[in-house]
Amino acid sequence: MKSKNQKRVITAVAVLSFFITAILIVGCDPLLRREKSRIQQTMETAIQNESNTEELRNILEEYLESKEDKTTNEVCFIKGYLYFLNSDYEKAKQQFTQVKNKLQNSDSSFIKIYTYIFLNMLTNENSPKEEFVQNCKNILSYMKKDKEYKNDGFLQWQVAYYLINDATQGADVLVDYLNNTKGLTDETKVKISGNIGQMFSLNKQYSEALFYYFGALYLVEGLQDISSREYYKIKLLTCIGDINFSIDEYENAIDFYKRAIDIPLLGKEEEEINKSMTIINACHAYLELQKYDEVDGLLEKLDELLSNLPENARDDVEVLKNNVLAEKYMGENELEKAENHLVKAMELIQNDTYELVWNKDIYVDFSYAKLYKKRMQYDEAILCFKKVLKKSNETGFGLEKSCYEEIGEIYKEQGDLELYSHYQQLYNTEIIEINKIFTGNYVSFIKNLYQYYRLENVQETYQIMLILGASVIVLLVVLSLFFVWTIRKWRKMSFTDHMTGLNNRKYLNYYLNAKYKKIEGKVVSILLIDIDYFKKYNDFYGHIKGDMVIREVADIVRECSKSSSIVVRYGGEEIVVLTFDTLPDEELRMAKEIRETVEHRAIKHECSDVSSNLTVSIGVYCAEYTRQDIYTLIDKADIALYRAKNHGRNRYEVYEDSESTEKNLIEKAHF
Ligand code: GH3
Ligand code: MG
Ligand code: MG
Repeated sequence: MKSKNQKRVITAVAVLSFFITAILIVGCDPLLRREKSRIQQTMETAIQNESNTEELRNILEEYLESKEDKTTNEVCFIKGYLYFLNSDYEKAKQQFTQVKNKLQNSDSSFIKIYTYIFLNMLTNENSPKEEFVQNCKNILSYMKKDKEYKNDGFLQWQVAYYLINDATQGADVLVDYLNNTKGLTDETKVKISGNIGQMFSLNKQYSEALFYYFGALYLVEGLQDISSREYYKIKLLTCIGDINFSIDEYENAIDFYKRAIDIPLLGKEEEEINKSMTIINACHAYLELQKYDEVDGLLEKLDELLSNLPENARDDVEVLKNNVLAEKYMGENELEKAENHLVKAMELIQNDTYELVWNKDIYVDFSYAKLYKKRMQYDEAILCFKKVLKKSNETGFGLEKSCYEEIGEIYKEQGDLELYSHYQQLYNTEIIEINKIFTGNYVSFIKNLYQYYRLENVQETYQIMLILGASVIVLLVVLSLFFVWTIRKWRKMSFTDHMTGLNNRKYLNYYLNAKYKKIEGKVVSILLIDIDYFKKYNDFYGHIKGDMVIREVADIVRECSKSSSIVVRYGGEEIVVLTFDTLPDEELRMAKEIRETVEHRAIKHECSDVSSNLTVSIGVYCAEYTRQDIYTLIDKADIALYRAKNHGRNRYEVYEDSESTEKNLIEKAHF
C-alpha cells in the first residue's frame, strides 16, 4: 500500500512539474527563441561599431559560400548587409525588404530586429514618416519578447533616433514600450522616459514632457553606476530647465540649470559636453534677466571645461560662447565688442566640419539682427530677422514671437504705423497661440494623469484579483489534498480490525470490487489459519492473554505472507491470506513458514493436546478467480482446514478441485 502511494505521489509531482515547466516555456517566449549564431554575433558587433573592414566582408562572403541553402533568411540578410557595406544601398534595401516579407517564427531575434534597423537606415528621409514609425514598432515588438534585447542601448538609441521623425506618434510608441514591457532595467526606463520627454517637448506638450523627465529623474537615483547616474542627471535637469526657458520661466530655468552645473564631473566626455551646453543655456536665462555678472561667472566655469573638450565639440561650444558674449555686450551697450564676438562666431561656423550642435547659425543671425537694430541699421536688421523667422519656422526653434516684436518695434521707430500694427498683430497671435497650447496642454495633461492613475488602480485591482485567485487555487488544492487524505484515513480505519491491525472482511469485499479488473483471471491462493485448542487457551490463561496471542499470530502471518497479499482477520482466531500472484507451490511454502514460525515462537499452551506450545492449523486452496463468490472459495480452504484439524492439527492441508468432482479424497500431509 505504502509503495503504491509513494508511486502516486511521484507521478503527481512529475505531472505537476511537467505542467509548470510547460507553462514557464509557453509563458517565457525567450526560452523558445532561436539561438544567435556566431556569424550573427559578429555582424551585430560590427553594425554597432559601424565597422566596415575587408576582413569583415571576407568573413561574410566565405560564410555565404559555405552555405548550401541560399534561400534562408540568414543568407539573404548577409547578402543585404554586404550590399550595405559596399554602399550599394538600392540593392541592400531590396534584399532587406525580401527578408522582411518572409520573416518567420523560426528566425532569430537578431535577424528580425536588424532587418528593420537596416530598413530604417536605408529609407529615404523624405519617405512618409509612417514607414519609420512602423519599422520602429516592429523592432520594439521583437525587443519586448527577447530578454537579450529588451534593454539593448544601441537599439533604444536607433529607435528613438528614427521615431523623432514623427514625435507625436513616436512618444506614444515609446510610452507603450515603457508601460507594457516586463523586465526593463532602471537605466532603460530612464533613457526611454528621457526620449519620451524629448518628443513631448518637441510637440510643445510641456506638461507631459515634464512628467516623464521628473519620472526619469526619480529613477536615476536608483542607478548603481555613479558615472551614468551623474550623466543622466545633468541631461535631465538641463531638459527640465529648457522647458522652463521655453515658457519664459527664467528664474526656474536657472534653478534647474544650476543643479546640473553643480554636479561634479567624473571625467566622461559626454558629461563635459552636456555640462557645457547647460552653462550656455543658463547664460541665456541670465541674459533674459539682464544679470550680466552672473553670465561672467558662468563663462569662467565654461572656460575650465573647454580645454578638456574634444576638438570637434570645442568649436561648437566656442560659437555659442561668443554668441553669449555678443548678447551680453549688446545688453551693456558695448556694440563694438559685441560685433567682434559675432565675427569670431561666424568664422568658427564656417570652419566647422563636425556639427555637434545643429543650426548654431540661427542664434548668431538673431544676435546680428539685434545688433543692426541697436545701430539703427534697420534695413539690414529687418532682413536678418526675416531670415531667422524663416529658419525658426522650419526648425521649430520658437523664435517667431521675439522676431515679430523686434520687427514691429523697428517699424514703429520708422513711423510706419501700418506695418507696425501688422507685426504687432502677428506678435499677439503668437502669444495667443502659445497660451492656447498651454491651456490645451494643461487640460490634456490633467486628463492623461487622471487616466494614468485610474489605469494604475485598475492594474492594482487586477494584481489583487490575481493574488486572490492564486490564493483560492492554493487553498482549493490544499483542501482537496486534505479531503483525499481524510477519506483515505477514514477508509483505512473502517477497513481495519482494531485489535490486530489486519484488514477486516469489509476491506476484502471492497478490494475484490475495486480491483476486479486487475485480478480477474488470475490464480488466487487462499490460506485459512486457525489456532489449535484456543478455547482451552482462553479458559486456562484468560481472555486478555488470549487477545495477545491472536495479535502475535496475526503479526507472524503478516510477516510470512507477501507484501501483495491481503491478510484478513476472518473470525475470532481465524485469519485468511489471499494472494493473487503466487508462484507455483508458493502458497505451500507460505503455509509451511507460518506453521513453523508459530511453533518455534514457543508460546506456552499447557492445555493443548498436540504440543506444549501454541500451534496453528492451515487449510489451503488455489483456484482461478472469475469473480465468483469469494466465500465459496474460502469454504474450500475451510474443508482443508477441517481435515488438518482431524488429522492431528499443527499442520496444513490442501483442498484439490478433483475432490469435488471425483469425490476422491487425496490426502496429503505436509510437514
Ligand atoms: P480447534 O483446535 O478445533 O480450533 O479448537 P478451538 O478451541 O480453537 O475451537 P474454535 O476454533 O472453534 O474456538 C474458537 C474460540 O476462540 C472461541 C472463543 O473463545 C475464542 N475467541 C474467539 N474470538 C476471540 C477473541 O477475540 N479473543 C479471545 N481471547 N478469544 C476469542
Ligand atoms: Mg476457530
Ligand atoms: Mg481454533
